[in-house]
Amino acid sequence: METNSNSHSRRHFIKNVAALGAGVVATSANQAVAAPANILSEDRKGVLVDTTVCIGCRNCEWACKKSHDKESGNIEEYSDRSVFKQFRRPSAATYTVVNEFSNPKNPALPINVKVQCMHCDRPACVSACIVGALSKYEDGSTIWDPVKCIGCRYCMVACSFQIPTFDYNKAIEPNINKCDFCNERRKAGKLPACVDICPVEALVFGTRSEIIKIAREKIQRNPERYINHIYGENEVSGTSWVYLAGRNFYELGFPKLGFKHAPGVSEAIQHGIFAYFVPPVMFYSLLGTMMWIYKRREEFNKEAELAEELELQSEPESEVEEL
Ligand code: SF4
Ligand code: SF4
Ligand code: SF4
Repeated sequence: METNSNSHSRRHFIKNVAALGAGVVATSANQAVAAPANILSEDRKGVLVDTTVCIGCRNCEWACKKSHDKESGNIEEYSDRSVFKQFRRPSAATYTVVNEFSNPKNPALPINVKVQCMHCDRPACVSACIVGALSKYEDGSTIWDPVKCIGCRYCMVACSFQIPTFDYNKAIEPNINKCDFCNERRKAGKLPACVDICPVEALVFGTRSEIIKIAREKIQRNPERYINHIYGENEVSGTSWVYLAGRNFYELGFPKLGFKHAPGVSEAIQHGIFAYFVPPVMFYSLLGTMMWIYKRREEFNKEAELAEELELQSEPESEVEEL
């Protein structure tokens, strides 16, 4: 779990970057911006999440962690429903979480909603990243590249779904965390780990066109069960992960977003930076300096913690000497 100082540090950093971005956007308000070319394949993949089927077992959380070499513990621990007392977001420790909401139609059966990267068709994170560390692929996935990332966390500010998170425990290398659509597993011909483990088929993997068709059919066949809205079909110009629900999505933690893709906003920031006489090298230097200061502070904190630990370890000896 994130410490208070970490979350404060993140808020502070986001505030600074947002302020920087907002200033630049303000200067470029009248500038027309171009959307990135749509490189997506007609057969691109997606997942349909049916929240009316999900039982909140959180096996998907466990499988996701396990398949990404994260501390996962025993699967039995995930039947603990006390976690639902708090609304949770994906974090450096887990790329996906399940939350619980009340069900006005049937209070005995709460609504569970799995959250992860939506793999937007036109991702704001990709558009915002100035070094190309996030890329959109033809198959629908949006993937982060650790080699290119400079840790500026611009993607965190840009994402409408608040998905990318920063690993504050890794002082040496910047580490942005988010669902990678199980890229490696899929390359090996396997299903995403969360889809594979789901015991009730609340998650359906397929081409995006197939899952949209399935979602439409489900709504048509059972209009009492579902509201007539496939979340992600059109939001921010479409996402690879789409959802069905029996209750208004905005009451289930989903952001109310328009159908226009978000990158226009983040591109406006980037274009503004480059068009309004801030030479790219200056901007890179600024980000580099911010990163250096951040890392130095982390190193300093770690050194201070280590010194404190060594001091504590040596205390009993000095007591013996005094006796
Ligand atoms: S949900 Fe956020 S992190 Fe995921 S692709 Fe969309 S903009 Fe990027
Ligand atoms: S697709 Fe893979 S990385 Fe994404 S939430 Fe599912 S298990 Fe995790
Ligand atoms: S494994 Fe399936 S049923 Fe269980 S919480 Fe995840 S999506 Fe819901």
